[in-house]
Amino acid sequence: MQADRCGAAPTIAEALRFARERIESVDARALLRMALNCSASRLAAHPEAALNEAQWHAYQSLVRRRGKGEPVAYLVGSREFYGRSFKVTPAVLIPRPETELLVELVLGMIGAKERATVLDLGTGSGAIGITLALELASKNGVVSAVDVSPDALDVARHNAAVLGANIGFFLGSWYRPLGERQFEYIVSNPPYVRADDHHLCEGDLRFEPHGALAAGADGLDDLRQIVAGAANHLQAGGWLLMEHGYDQAEDVRRLLQASGFSEIGSWSDLAGIPRVSGGRRTSA
Ligand code: GLN
Repeated sequence: MQADRCGAAPTIAEALRFARERIESVDARALLRMALNCSASRLAAHPEAALNEAQWHAYQSLVRRRGKGEPVAYLVGSREFYGRSFKVTPAVLIPRPETELLVELVLGMIGAKERATVLDLGTGSGAIGITLALELASKNGVVSAVDVSPDALDVARHNAAVLGANIGFFLGSWYRPLGERQFEYIVSNPPYVRADDHHLCEGDLRFEPHGALAAGADGLDDLRQIVAGAANHLQAGGWLLMEHGYDQAEDVRRLLQASGFSEIGSWSDLAGIPRVSGGRRTSA
C-alpha cells in the first residue's frame, strides 16, 4: 500500500487495510485503539484521521507481533472479565469467558447470606477472586487469594488496587501459605491441560504461562491436590468448586467422592460443556 511505499503515516482506514492480510480485523481494531489510545467509536467515526509517525510504527509492530501469534490481551495489556477490565501480562493466564460460570455459581450459592468467606486458589490475574470481592462487597464478602507465582501476584494486587477490591493475598503453592485458615467457599481455575495436549503448542496457549495450563499426564495433578487438601480448609458445610477441562467432569466428581464430599455436581458453561464440578464438605 501507499503508506508502506513512501513511509508516510497513513489514515485510520489505511492502517486497518494494512492489517487485513496479516491478522483478524477485530484484532486490528483493538491494536489500533491501543496505538492511538482512542475509543472504538473514534476509529469508526474518523477513518480519514491520520496517524502520526510514532503511532504508525507502534501499530505496525503490534500487527507484526499479533501476526506471529502473540495474544491480543498481552499486546494491549488487558482483558475484560465479568464486565471489568483486568491488567494481564505473560505472567498470568488470560481470563476466559467460560470462567464466568464459576463466579456466577458462587454468587448464586452465597445469595442473600450475611457474610461469606471465599478462597480463590491460583488466582493469576485475580479475575475470579476480585470479581467475587466486588460483587459481594455490599454483603461483606471476605476474599483471600493464593498464587505460587510472585509475578502473577503482583498483577493480581495491581488489579485489586485499581478496581477497589479488598483481598488478602498469599504467596505459595495451593493451601501451603494458609496455615489453619478455613473458608466457606473454595474456588479455583487451576491448570488442567494434559501435558501432551497439542493445544499447548498452538495459538494463544503458546504464549501463556505453562505452569498455569499444564497439569501432568492426565491434566488432573492440580485438581487432585486441591480436592485432597480442601477438607482441612473448608468449614463444615462449605463448598469446593473447580473449573476443569471439557472431558474431566466425571474424573473430578470421582475425586470429590473419594474425599467424602456430598452434593457433588457438575455445571455446564454457555457452550453446554461441563466446565465446573464441586461438592460440599459433609458437616461432621
Ligand atoms: N481453559 C483453558 C484452555 O483450555 C485452560 C485453562 C486452565 O488450564 N485452567 O485454554
